[in-house]
Amino acid sequence: MYDVMIIGGGFAGLAAATQLGRARRKVVVLDTGKPRNRFSPAAHGILGHDGVPPLEILAAGRRQLAAYSTVTTLPAEAVSVAGSEGDFTVTTREHGTFSARRIILAHGVSDTLPAIPGLQACWGLSVLHCPYCHGYEVGDRRLGFLAFPGHELMMATLYRDWSSDLVMFANGSDVDAATRASLDALGVRIIAAPVLEARHHEGHLTHIVTAEGAIERDAIFVAPKTAPSLDLYRQLGCATTPGHSGDYITVGERQETSVPGVFAAGDLARPMHNATFATAAGVLAGTMAHHSLLFPTAA
Ligand SMILES: Cc1cc2nc3c(=O)[nH]c(=O)nc-3n(C[C@H](O)[C@H](O)[C@H](O)COP(=O)(O)OP(=O)(O)OC[C@H]3O[C@@H](n4cnc5c(N)ncnc54)[C@H](O)[C@@H]3O)c2cc1C
Repeated sequence: MYDVMIIGGGFAGLAAATQLGRARRKVVVLDTGKPRNRFSPAAHGILGHDGVPPLEILAAGRRQLAAYSTVTTLPAEAVSVAGSEGDFTVTTREHGTFSARRIILAHGVSDTLPAIPGLQACWGLSVLHCPYCHGYEVGDRRLGFLAFPGHELMMATLYRDWSSDLVMFANGSDVDAATRASLDALGVRIIAAPVLEARHHEGHLTHIVTAEGAIERDAIFVAPKTAPSLDLYRQLGCATTPGHSGDYITVGERQETSVPGVFAAGDLARPMHNATFATAAGVLAGTMAHHSLLFPTAA
């Protein structure tokens, strides 16, 4: 039996495994190798790794983790979980079952984009979710954003800080007069009609097509819906919290979920997502899972 089983070997999972390896604990990391930012050619805003391809950062993490002989990393897809604190069993698609005293859920979230042709092909290249991750690269270009009803002014003010050439695509939603006036004052153009297509060349946006015509844009910000990429938390009975992009797994100060012995870290356990937050949460989850083995009432 392993001390800790980590589901997901992205930023959170590898960070948790490193802490536990340094504590000389017997750990298995199950990972399908598809981090959320794999669609982007470079990751940004990560200290010491700004502009480095995401898969390269994670490969370096795995290489360093390999130095810890008590940690096993397996390319395996977890599909179900059973048991309780002290004896959890996870079944994988490829390698049968694994048992561990503690579990860390770190398998990230899945993104669902609005059903507009072309968006998915541009995801991470010119259809962007976060200005801090990608805004610098498209600064002062022809930008747009897909309105998130109720948040139009906040979004316009934020994205306007990266380019004065900004168009809000309301995509058929109502925009009240006060918001229209505020956007007008910011110099942000509003296109009311539903968006029909994101026209692009090999993932690089050229136009946003609406019933009012095609508008040239170099990049557009879109807020995806998110959900934990796997339903192990439901099988375990972990509580969730509603977030602005979707529900996430509820954790306390030590990254522990509502179920004893189950920890969660990364995008699936917080409303605001980035690789550094996920790494930090993974470090904390690994440390606290270790503490929970030593001091069973601490977690
Ligand atoms: C397009 C895009 C670009 C981004 N760019 C940046 C950026 O520049 N800078 C930044 O800080 N953040 C960026 N982010 C956010 C960043 O990707 C996430 O915050 C970060 O990846 C979260 O880390 P995580 O460990 O929670 O999940 P992930 O990194 O997504 O890792 C989850 C891991 O779990 C694995 N997994 C999933 N299901 C299973 C299963 N059933 N069994 C086993 N393993 C499984 C996955 O394959 C994956 O390896 C970007 C996000 C997107 C969508």
